[in-house]
Amino acid sequence: MPFIDLRSDTVTKPSLEMRRAIFNAEVGDDVFEEDPTVNQLEKLSAELFEKEKALFVSSGTQANLISVLCQCNRGEEYIAGQNAHVYKWEGGGCAVLGSVQPQPIQVEKDGTLHLDNIQKHIKPWDVHFTKTKLLALENTMWGKVLPMDYLAKARALADKNHLKMHLDGARVFNAAIALEVPVSAISKYFDTVSFCLSKGLGAPVGSLLCGSAATIEKARHLRKMLGGGMRQAGVLAAAGLYALQNNINRLAEDHINAFHLANELRKIPGLNECLEANTNIVLLRVGPERQQDLLQHLKTHNILALGNEGLVRFVTHLDINESDIDKTIHVIKQYFRNHLI
Ligand SMILES: *Cc1c(COP(=O)(O)O)cnc(C)c1O
Repeated sequence: MPFIDLRSDTVTKPSLEMRRAIFNAEVGDDVFEEDPTVNQLEKLSAELFEKEKALFVSSGTQANLISVLCQCNRGEEYIAGQNAHVYKWEGGGCAVLGSVQPQPIQVEKDGTLHLDNIQKHIKPWDVHFTKTKLLALENTMWGKVLPMDYLAKARALADKNHLKMHLDGARVFNAAIALEVPVSAISKYFDTVSFCLSKGLGAPVGSLLCGSAATIEKARHLRKMLGGGMRQAGVLAAAGLYALQNNINRLAEDHINAFHLANELRKIPGLNECLEANTNIVLLRVGPERQQDLLQHLKTHNILALGNEGLVRFVTHLDINESDIDKTIHVIKQYFRNHLI
């Protein structure tokens, strides 16, 4: 029996139609900028995000790294959340490969970085300090959508302090769908935006970095330097194009599934207090011991979730349907019938 895999929206597999698009892809050498499918994907991405140019890269990690390296010189710094992907989950790449120092700061309950706290950490010119150059935000942040008026205020603060802004938009389409706005309404506050094709959009590989023509020219050079210049990458870009053309609006179904899961779990005595649900991510704060035990119980019923520091995480995506969610609800209810929270 196949697993119901709720660990992450990265586990999606290309659909038959997507595989057909891959099969039929026209290709060329993308290092010579001659792959028509890659060029088409980059053009469509730039249009969607209303930036001058976009660059197809191997992963979200690479997109974030290139963005930071484009906007910070050696020894300079960027501000990011304490558990932001671009700080905590990328192997220290900005420091290792760019000699760029992170300035991590606390993430608030709503996923934002407090504006006063950002201001406090921007270094004034002083012989002791490095130069703060970039503010990196993440949207969605563990499923949480950053409020639009917050983005406007963050931009004003960045401008006042001569900072550039990068958006780690691995799941920015989830944010846009939740807000019922086009992604360009979000991206307009940022100098650069990265987004993942390989999460909820359902493509097997790839991310894009969008920004000004000058930034993307620099990014293309950095991508080559990092070993990310790919040749007949159109076979991958075709999947990404298919995803952008077909899989954006359906993200709303993932949100409905996540909220349905959350609403049913809230009915279990004691669970309401330790449950959080935003866009396509449901978090259950059950503590480290219960976490292991619950994950094991789920696994014996062919359901996979992710455990992290006492949290159990369920992520909905296009390979999860309503009946998978109903089965998951049933199995969790069964668990808590025998185990008090
Ligand atoms: C998944 C993710 C990335 C990129 O991950 P890759 O596996 O490198 O593609 C970046 N930022 C956030 C917030 C993510 O969730």
